[in-house]
Amino acid sequence: MYDLIIIGGGPAGVTAAIYASRAHLDTLWLDDRFVPGGQISDSALVDNYPGLPSVTGAELGDRFAAHAEGLGLKPLREKVLSIEKTSRGEEDPKGAFVLKTRKNIYESRTVILAAGAAHRHLDIPGEEELSGMGVSYCATCDGAFFRDRTAAVIGGGNTACEDALFLSRMCRQVYLVHRRDMLRADAVLRDRVQNCENIRVIWNSVPEKIEGDSQVSGLVLKNRVSGEENTLVTEGVFIAVGMTPNSGLVRELAETDEAGYVCAGEDCATSMPGLYVAGDVRTKMLRQVVTATADGANAVASVQRYLG
Ligand code: NAP
Repeated sequence: MYDLIIIGGGPAGVTAAIYASRAHLDTLWLDDRFVPGGQISDSALVDNYPGLPSVTGAELGDRFAAHAEGLGLKPLREKVLSIEKTSRGEEDPKGAFVLKTRKNIYESRTVILAAGAAHRHLDIPGEEELSGMGVSYCATCDGAFFRDRTAAVIGGGNTACEDALFLSRMCRQVYLVHRRDMLRADAVLRDRVQNCENIRVIWNSVPEKIEGDSQVSGLVLKNRVSGEENTLVTEGVFIAVGMTPNSGLVRELAETDEAGYVCAGEDCATSMPGLYVAGDVRTKMLRQVVTATADGANAVASVQRYLG
């Protein structure tokens, strides 16, 4: 019987593991596809994590992992398939959680789910068929294939703007396709995009179809104001339209909002006693590395309080 099982190895999970270790909790840390830094490993530049200006996402992730390893902490690579809450009656009113992986069954008094979020898809014709053949969800991973070529980025948030700026350094021309007439991204990124010579923002437009046989050749766009359809000639389509939370494991156990984020406040406590959520998987105002690491620490503090 563990005190705590942490699921996820991104910034929230790694921080929870470090804090749990310092609190001497008997902890099991699981992540089936451990990528140091989680989502941030895809970011070409992280410029807002205090103390480490202009660090790449991969480097920040490596530093997190090295910190944990220095304390003897490394996640077990096992995929959690299910989580159940058990109750043993009056002598154990708080009960415990039973987690099944492919190989094992584990029991723990508490769980911190720090499973993050996954890339949202557009669900338009051509997207799935041409995935990996010009359609990508990661500019820093695939951008180099588009050197001196043309790429379109879909979205208007921080990720889309960062992707467009990253691609502008290697592509001949970058189009940023946004469905409204104002970018959602932070002001500093908006300014950089609008002042970049080889980025053209295409406003009020939604992608209808991605064209190409064995490689992307164009993107059919519909203007939401005029209703006109046009085909943009492009060799790459980078989709950056937000994330969906990896909350499936606890949807039956705890309250979620309409988008699937697990409802929890700063204490990271869910509607299920003993179950905590940290990082992008929980309801919150700002999804950043710095808020994810804060969650990791807060969630462990809540676990300690719960365990008494
Ligand atoms: P996001 O902020 O949710 O932005 C998603 C963008 O995609 C929005 O502009 C949205 O349009 C658009 N969109 C959504 N569905 C669409 C659809 N079906 N078709 C066309 N466009 C669609 O997502 P994100 O940029 O991935 O960022 C996720 C979180 O990570 C945010 O909290 C962000 O601040 C954070 N982040 C931070 C940094 C950083 O600070 N360095 C970097 C990356 C991400 P609307 O604007 O019209 O809704």
